[in-house]
Amino acid sequence: SLSIGIVGLPNVGKSTLFNALTKNDALAANYPFATIEPNVGVVGVPDSRLDVLARMYDSAKVIPATVTFVDIAGIVSGASEGEGLGNQFLANIRESDAICQVIRVFGDSDVTHVAGDIRPERDIETINTELVLADLQTLDKALPRLEKEAKRNAQDKVAQHALAEARRARDLLDGGTPLSAGAQSAGVDIEALRELHLLTVKPFLYVFNLDSAELADTALRAKLSELVAPAEAIFLDAKIEAELAELDADEAAELLESMGQTESGLDQLARVGFATLGLQTFLTAGPKEARAWTIRRGATAPEAAGAIHTDFQRGFIKAEVVAYDELVAAGSHAAAKAAGRVRIEGKDYVMADGDVTEFRFNV
Ligand code: GDP
Repeated sequence: SLSIGIVGLPNVGKSTLFNALTKNDALAANYPFATIEPNVGVVGVPDSRLDVLARMYDSAKVIPATVTFVDIAGIVSGASEGEGLGNQFLANIRESDAICQVIRVFGDSDVTHVAGDIRPERDIETINTELVLADLQTLDKALPRLEKEAKRNAQDKVAQHALAEARRARDLLDGGTPLSAGAQSAGVDIEALRELHLLTVKPFLYVFNLDSAELADTALRAKLSELVAPAEAIFLDAKIEAELAELDADEAAELLESMGQTESGLDQLARVGFATLGLQTFLTAGPKEARAWTIRRGATAPEAAGAIHTDFQRGFIKAEVVAYDELVAAGSHAAAKAAGRVRIEGKDYVMADGDVTEFRFNV
């Protein structure tokens, strides 16, 4: 499954945040959570639609989609120079499908900052520079080979294209721009560079760790959002998230409400992280369970069937689909059907987020 690597400079609150993610007791009742390895956490993606479906279908349980986070320790300036920890750090990032940067905004004189003072913009720059330098190295190593392949056969369009795109990617990186931020507007075809496993093609997402007082500062938040746009920014106080994770659901909701929030930072992180991975869900519901299944955005109906079982994909005949909102508006599946809201979709149908689906298949 796809995973999000959590990175950041030392003392920015990574461990605090990751520990909160891995023992989110307030959610444990509703959202299954598992720790596979000490640095890997699987977190439920909050989805209030499932509770509504569970009531409608009298489902025995609710099973949300999950998102996997990996705590990647060890970013240091000079990681790309390939010394010990640095190498391991880059290898771990290479295995992640998205990169979540934790950026310190809170000022606490008891917690030292590696660079001496609190400057989010510089810290983002520091991390991005390491990733950009690592990609430049990868490209510089690959370019002679790509050049040779392109030279050997001038008719080989794929080889010509790969070389041209590698050169353009290199120019962009040379200017300090991560490919996820600049490739699209510069028209660089990163698909042509897939085999190079570049780091900065992965989507980025930013968690700003603020103090509670700063959390309410909308001007500050707007400024930070702007720093990282179009990447998503999440604002939270890791210490409060750690406290929330220790509370039961009611107490946690109360504490959140007292802070004028409706959703914890961890829930936001799970939701936004899931979307950043390019994933979406479709839903199934019945007496056994109301469940969200994970598919990539753009997946077809047979691919969605395959998320449940490979046999479903192989023997796919058709899907019976009703949009969640239309199902809820109708009040029941039978009523939605009577109103003509339940569609029969074939193998070319592209699933929409929240499609409530039943598959017909041959076994
Ligand atoms: P890491 O090195 O990035 O994993 O940072 P840690 O999670 O170990 O946090 C370093 C120190 O900062 C710890 O003493 C935390 O309690 C503290 N800390 C983490 N988040 C916050 C925060 O939001 N506000 C304040 N004041 N301290 C925090």
